Amino acid sequence: MKSIQIIVPAYNEERNILPFHREITKIFAPLESQYAFEILFVNDGSKDNTIGEIEKLAAADPRVKFIDFSRNFGKEVATTAGINNCQADACIMVDADLQHPVELIPEFIARWEKGFDVVIGIRNKNKSDGWIKKLGSKLFYNIINKIAEVKVVPNATDFRLIDKVVVAEFSRFTETSRMTRALIDWLGFKRDFIYFDANERLHGTASYSFWKLFGLAMNSFISLSLMPLKLAGSLGIFITLFSGLSGFYIMLGKYVFRTHFASTFSDSENLAILILFLVGIILMSIGLLALYVANIHREVINRPIYVIRKKNI
Ligand code: UDP
Ligand code: MG
Repeated sequence: MKSIQIIVPAYNEERNILPFHREITKIFAPLESQYAFEILFVNDGSKDNTIGEIEKLAAADPRVKFIDFSRNFGKEVATTAGINNCQADACIMVDADLQHPVELIPEFIARWEKGFDVVIGIRNKNKSDGWIKKLGSKLFYNIINKIAEVKVVPNATDFRLIDKVVVAEFSRFTETSRMTRALIDWLGFKRDFIYFDANERLHGTASYSFWKLFGLAMNSFISLSLMPLKLAGSLGIFITLFSGLSGFYIMLGKYVFRTHFASTFSDSENLAILILFLVGIILMSIGLLALYVANIHREVINRPIYVIRKKNI
């Protein structure tokens, strides 16, 4: 009998754990004669009683496993821990808030049985998203697909199935700042896609704030591409050329051709413009370099990706 593990990252989901378990066991029921199911909750340092709810479930249902982090490490790391602890023939990552329609799980399994190693859930456009999120995600996918080494499919989610060969390869990644789905995309393999409409969150609020998403996007830019670093250089060349030429033009106009327009700029005004430009360039370049250096620093000190307080798997 083939085994399938459901990986569920959970952060402050105390009210969603039980409904999630109820819904997913309903989905398992007709398949249980063919597959051995296991649910692996990864409690990502929740501040509420999420772990209490999980442990209660684990005591009652032997299919429920859990990993309890010592603190909040973020969803990407939580899913990583789930994948690293997967011993099944395939694992499926699902959000705890029931936004990912669990009734599609049999479809994921069917595609896997057809021979696909990675089955990716793609979210149809979400009407309830605000315009900032919509614009942000559009911008993100446009930029990342122009500059990154791998194709990132727009609106591809973490709701995905991966085969045990992918699981084995995935555990070779060592970086601490990571985007799980981008790493899985990087691995390649035979991939198939399933489109779905995301549900509303059952209880609680989404914990991915604008700034967290922005940070994640910045992180993917610099971990998947060297383009931003080169961009600072090109921008520097462009602005230096531009300010140099306009400075040259004003100087010529002032001292050689004595045009009226050029003579309205005083020397100190010209200098101020020039200095502002140059300082801007320098600050931007330093900012970008700092991002890369921070990334190198994080990887070089080689901290563990996560710390487990307790687990039953
Ligand atoms: N999550 C997590 N750690 C975090 C934030 C979120 O494990 O630091 C989990 C959360 O419990 C949920 C999933 O990741 O199961 C998606 O999070 P959320 O619903 O907040 O984000 P969104 O639906 O906007 O992607
Ligand atoms: Mg959610």
